[in-house]
Amino acid sequence: MTKKTITVAYGDGIGPEIMKATLKILEAAGAELEIEEIEVGEKVYKSGFSSGIKPEAWDSLRENKVLLKAPITTPQGGGYKSLNVTIRKSMGLFANVRPCVSYHPFIKTNHPQMDVVIIRENEEDLYAGIEHRQTDEVVQCLKLITKPGSEKIIRYAFEYAKSYGRKKVTAMIKDNIMKLSDGMFHNIFKEIAKEYPDIESDHMIIDIGMAKVANNPSQFDVIVTPNLYGDILSDIAAEITGSVGLAGSCNIGENIAMFEAIHGSAPDIAGKGIANPSGLLLSSIQMLVHIGQKDIAEKIHNAWMVTIEQGIHTGDIYRDDLSQKKVGTQEFADAVIANLGQKPHTLKTAEYKSLPKIFKYVRKAPDSKALKGVDVFVDDLKCTPDSLAKTLQTCEGEPFFLQVITNRGVKVWPEGFAETFCTDHWRCRFLGKDNADVSHKDVIGLLSRLDDAGVDFIKTEQLYEFNGERGYSAAQGT
Ligand code: NAD
Repeated sequence: MTKKTITVAYGDGIGPEIMKATLKILEAAGAELEIEEIEVGEKVYKSGFSSGIKPEAWDSLRENKVLLKAPITTPQGGGYKSLNVTIRKSMGLFANVRPCVSYHPFIKTNHPQMDVVIIRENEEDLYAGIEHRQTDEVVQCLKLITKPGSEKIIRYAFEYAKSYGRKKVTAMIKDNIMKLSDGMFHNIFKEIAKEYPDIESDHMIIDIGMAKVANNPSQFDVIVTPNLYGDILSDIAAEITGSVGLAGSCNIGENIAMFEAIHGSAPDIAGKGIANPSGLLLSSIQMLVHIGQKDIAEKIHNAWMVTIEQGIHTGDIYRDDLSQKKVGTQEFADAVIANLGQKPHTLKTAEYKSLPKIFKYVRKAPDSKALKGVDVFVDDLKCTPDSLAKTLQTCEGEPFFLQVITNRGVKVWPEGFAETFCTDHWRCRFLGKDNADVSHKDVIGLLSRLDDAGVDFIKTEQLYEFNGERGYSAAQGT
């Protein structure tokens, strides 16, 4: 087999210790790898690169297309951007895959039957990082859910289930509240599910869904969810398997993939030689499958399970009643190496099948769009809903009428409740009279009149219909 060159980052804190242990196991197992090292993390951040990565490291990634990365420390304070988010988004790593498995009865867990894979959308949602302070009292963070992003991750989840013989895919969203954004994710899920009739599909509202994962994870198989929900859910799921130190993850794109543990750089135990290398090792096993070395992947995974069954445990999973020997990072790696070639007795033997297919997103003909009005957001600390409405109505002009004013999404005019607390941030909805279409020039005319009247508008949102369907939410209370 020809050697595959991979890019490796040793990271910060416990990173170098667990990477050294992991690479030692890979080498002993006969993985055909050339290592190209890049430096990322704290030192790079502090030498003036705000994303924690130097320009030349990108070339290594582009060339090798596979990155095995140890955790890094993001320095405290302003100005530093998350390296992980930067790599995921810049390299189009749209799928974050986190298998969360219990190793009962060898590792203590309240959920002995757990075997859940969380597939988290990795590029968009609130992680678009588009935030604005709009008024003295109000800051906004934009949640972006896209058709391509949703379709790619949902299709990947079904393809993953198909490749690994999994029975069910559950979507977790909150479309009872976010009817358009999470609603679109849900609708795309329902459409794509029809293409996989052999795989069961269902959905849950994220809050009860997470609660059920925490209480009874055995009812789940594959879960697909947008970015922020997936971030929280996958940490909960990993933790309840027994230790956050056990879970590996991969970040998959059309061309490039990154493999890492889900835990951080654990500065509290760095340099002590006691960190559990299992998260990084399990992610490196996923990497071997990804680059076509699945026999080696199975061999290492089986040896790792044998070591766990033997009760040779690092401190984070060591329990007097379950474990036989407490070991440090390198001793644990040596035990795994000694077990290469063996198969577990109780835990399920590792068997890797084909990789999930990745489909390129195919753009469809766009829906027809008509401009029907505009939401003008106004900064005013002193007004009341009625006084603001009075001013705004003097600016309506043709073709608009003021339909509603809301504050934090709740209708306050006309006929608002006196009890509603109001901030200095007002959303004022102007629609075309008799459902008429409006134009950009009409919007500019309206803004000009508002400016003349001394209204401090801080942003606008166009109100469109797509294929005759409203593309904006109604105000709460209307
Ligand atoms: P953490 O995951 O590093 O540590 C949380 C707790 O888990 C600590 O008590 C730690 O000792 C323990 N722990 C974590 N991994 C372990 C392992 N392999 N073996 C044994 N115990 C382990 O989370 P944190 O303390 O919130 O973050 C520390 C730093 O890591 C921060 O700078 C954070 O930004 C960074 N971080 C990086 C990544 C990444 O690079 N992928 C992910 C999360 C956090």
